[in-house]
Amino acid sequence: MIFLILWLPLALSLSPNAALAAGFTDLKGSWAAPEIARAVDSGYIKGYPDGNFKPATGVTRAEFLTMVDNAFQLAAAQNPGTFRDVRPGIWFGSSVQAAVYSGLVSGYPDHTFRPQQAVTRQEAACILAPLLKLQDGALRFTDIRQIAAWAKSSVSQLAVGGIITGYPDGTFRPAKTINRAEAVAIIDKALTSRTVVQTPAPDQGDQSNPGVQTPEPERGDTGELAVGVSNDQYGEKVEIAVVQGAVYNVAELQDPPRLVVTVPDVTVVRTPLEIDVGEGGLDKITTSFSGTGPGTAEVEISFATPVPLTYYTTPGQPGELSITVPPQIYKIESAPVSDFLAVNLWATGPLNYQTSMQGNPQQLVLTFPGTGLSPGLQTWQQPVSVAGVDGLQLSEPQLMTAQLAVQTTQDLTCSSDSSDQGQQMVLRLQKNTNPAGQSGQSEQSGPEGQGSLAGKTIVLDPGHGGNDPGAIGPHGVEEKWVTLPIALKAADILRQQGANVILTRTGDTNPDLLARPELANDNNADVFVSIHANWIRNSSIGGTGTYTYAPPGTPLGQQRTARLHLASVLQEDLVKTLGLHDSGVIEDNFEVLRCTDMPAALVEVAFISNPWQERLLNDANFQQQAASAIVSGITRFLTGG
Ligand SMILES: [Zn+2]
Repeated sequence: MIFLILWLPLALSLSPNAALAAGFTDLKGSWAAPEIARAVDSGYIKGYPDGNFKPATGVTRAEFLTMVDNAFQLAAAQNPGTFRDVRPGIWFGSSVQAAVYSGLVSGYPDHTFRPQQAVTRQEAACILAPLLKLQDGALRFTDIRQIAAWAKSSVSQLAVGGIITGYPDGTFRPAKTINRAEAVAIIDKALTSRTVVQTPAPDQGDQSNPGVQTPEPERGDTGELAVGVSNDQYGEKVEIAVVQGAVYNVAELQDPPRLVVTVPDVTVVRTPLEIDVGEGGLDKITTSFSGTGPGTAEVEISFATPVPLTYYTTPGQPGELSITVPPQIYKIESAPVSDFLAVNLWATGPLNYQTSMQGNPQQLVLTFPGTGLSPGLQTWQQPVSVAGVDGLQLSEPQLMTAQLAVQTTQDLTCSSDSSDQGQQMVLRLQKNTNPAGQSGQSEQSGPEGQGSLAGKTIVLDPGHGGNDPGAIGPHGVEEKWVTLPIALKAADILRQQGANVILTRTGDTNPDLLARPELANDNNADVFVSIHANWIRNSSIGGTGTYTYAPPGTPLGQQRTARLHLASVLQEDLVKTLGLHDSGVIEDNFEVLRCTDMPAALVEVAFISNPWQERLLNDANFQQQAASAIVSGITRFLTGG
């Protein structure tokens, strides 16, 4: 290991020796003075140039692992992984990699290592235990229940081995963070214990016992390569493992963009030679034996995109490597369309965003949580001069959080429409023509004061969203991704007719069920239409239905005629346009219908549980037809047509 000087900026002139250690001004009478003297003497920790050791100062993961690496001379990592927050070349980088490779510690699933996090007593035990190979024993601390399940065995080994002791009151205090004096004391004891116990390495053991034959590994046991793929919120994860351990070489290739992992000493491939992935930006994974040498396998990971994607490699146990491709935006294009700027985004996962105005120079910032950027877009920017937009710039200021900054001198509005299950999005940026009286979720455009719906306020409510996907079709189409484009398309047409349209959501959010009707009440809307897709266990059932609620004898009952009329014109126009089975107008006590002050209806456009109608609902043309039918019904209701 490279020998690293701890506390780099502060330890310029100190030469480590015991006399100095004993002479630290802040160590007089310290319980740990002898251990600190030995530690400074052997060089795995230093004091500060002002003559202090600062024994009570806390210790971060980066600091503790650097001390452990220097004290135990860990083997260098053979397949160093990439952590988002461990910059290449940073002073603790090789120690962190060596500790991960030796199995002392691991990173977090979000590809961070969190080097600045403080080390607790139970974490320190887990880091040191694998180095000592001690025996488990019964834990005698009075606060055993507070020791985390993952730490119990390590704490027990170190306690039985006398490396750690509890407090005089019988507690261990597992979650208490350690300071420099405690870190040195525990490492000092661990070092001493290791010198005494010394477990022979496996191959030395074999030599010292020539009479004992290690059984020949069975055919297929060694060099067996397995490849697997899985996914979660952090992206698509490809895991490669070889039974006997391996050194991987990852190469990035072009045309088409792909990763090739070369694995030596492979005798058998356990998994299918070709795995079709077809999601999360991955096309397929192909394993083959290369021509470069006997027993060398190549695992080719093909991207489904025309450009290389961002990926992270994480070392696991020796012999394992995982490659994660996080959700990311990989293509952006902008084009002027009449009075707005259309910005098209392509991503490997569903896109959703939040907007905020940030000042000086003023910009509208769209934040995409859970989505990063491909390598080619990390510094993308483009000057434009359309619809009040002066420039566009992409960045990824936080882990897996892309931002699109829209430079402007104007007040802008942004609306959007998505397709391909949310992986393609078109943003419409334009000058805000009516800055006053706009709620955050309302948008206005189109020729105001003209058109058949001038002066009318219409609230459209795309069902579900965010953490609520709604009903899910047999092929995985989620209701929330169907209701949103229908509502956005309907809003576009209504605005062209001069209406003031307010949407309860414009992205993948889930406004409260009460907030939806309240938005309509607060804006004195003339009509409220909630858009849904139906679900039933019997997947052969299909059709269109419209719901209303106006029980006679209640305040809502006074709107009974109007509400029934709204529901029936919507139902008529949907059935006429879409041609699906007519399930009729149904009365039901839905929150959005009960809590709206104005005529309101809820349309179930089709059955997402029916595989054929699921496909229709996911089709942009069908969505457009549904949108125009809803607009036609609303227009007939409002204009008496
Ligand atoms: Zn629904």
